[in-house]
Amino acid sequence: MALIVMKFGGTSVADMDRIRNVAAHVKREVTAGNKVAVVVSAMAGRTNELVDFVNDATDTPDQREYDAVVSSGEQVTSGLLALCLQNEGVAARSWQGWQIPLLTDDAHGKARINDINGDELRQSIEAGVVAVIAGFQGISPLGRIATLGRGGSDTSAVAIAAALDADLCDIYTDVDGVYTTDPRIVAKARRLQKVSYEEMLEMASLGAKVLQTRSVELAMLKNVRLAVRSSFDDPVTTPAVNMDGTSTIGTLVCSEEEIVEQQVVSGIAYAKDEAKVTLISIADKPGIAAAVFGPLAEANINVDMIVQNVSADGLTTDMTFTVPEADLPSALAVLEGHKDVLNYKELLGATNIVKVSIIGVGMRSHAGVAAEMFKELAAKGINIQAITTSEIKISILIDAAYQELAVRTLHSLFGLDQEPE
Ligand code: ASP
Ligand code: MG
Repeated sequence: MALIVMKFGGTSVADMDRIRNVAAHVKREVTAGNKVAVVVSAMAGRTNELVDFVNDATDTPDQREYDAVVSSGEQVTSGLLALCLQNEGVAARSWQGWQIPLLTDDAHGKARINDINGDELRQSIEAGVVAVIAGFQGISPLGRIATLGRGGSDTSAVAIAAALDADLCDIYTDVDGVYTTDPRIVAKARRLQKVSYEEMLEMASLGAKVLQTRSVELAMLKNVRLAVRSSFDDPVTTPAVNMDGTSTIGTLVCSEEEIVEQQVVSGIAYAKDEAKVTLISIADKPGIAAAVFGPLAEANINVDMIVQNVSADGLTTDMTFTVPEADLPSALAVLEGHKDVLNYKELLGATNIVKVSIIGVGMRSHAGVAAEMFKELAAKGINIQAITTSEIKISILIDAAYQELAVRTLHSLFGLDQEPE
């Protein structure tokens, strides 16, 4: 017997039939003798619709009222799932964030969880009543409903699992696990049986949208074991995701020490929503980088990859960096506004680029991975425009036209096309 948290995303609760299907998944676990807390998202598309209503009402929404509106999608699905469970003879009740209570800070719209008092919740679960919890929401210090940022019900689930000291947090979604890369691009992409928190964090922030980044950070911090699995597997016969990672289904997200057979590279991620900014011929002297990036930071624009050439003449140089594509217009406006200080010859912005990254904790103990990567891309005629690295990741910026070729090439180069031996 175990205490488990089951989280179901928007596509898994998209309509009444799917909610009944979720109830069948929950009933399976209850019948097996487990104690269960369920965390649900709003029906697919519902939160977007609610956000649209808010923006229709006013151009400058009061964030507390924004939260009152957009949190309602989860209230609906939590009540409906409790009803469907009761209908199946499973004792269940719904819990809103404020009822638990799940305490947040007052950063409405993107609040962080401060604390969860799990006592009442635990008592109810121990008494055999399935807790159906509205994800994405909590209560602020002033007693107002606060939401946790888009995709935040993953974070709700992990936080609840930590507060209840659950044995496992199952994340049910519309894919059957975490893959070595995007299966839509590489047919040979494989489901990973296990992936470490660190790798999952890189994959999540680099564009593999299975889990909200914050939820993975929290799981790593609190040592919550996560299993990513599909809600479309047969709800009655599907097996559990094994703790030892030998499962035929799902992906276990766990600590690095639990992964014995570590590949050098575990996955390839890509991000298309980046843009490139180039400043041609700026002065090569102290203070210029600060003059470029200071105003961008003030405008809340995140800069990612940065390359600066060594100047040939010792006087001027070119500088290239990336920003989120949505921020390109404001980044260019900020730099135009500082033209008198920066004194560049030309300012260029481009969106026809893609960032491709290889990720793996095995890189910590392997030299030469970057060299191998660059050599193989060169052989395919792919030009690298910028590079950044961390201990467990190498990212390159390339022309968007080469995205698929690059991802496929790297997937085979690092042995991801076949199952590891
Ligand atoms: N319903 C919220 C959203 O769409 C939270 C979630 O689904 O995780 O962002
Ligand atoms: Mg989600």
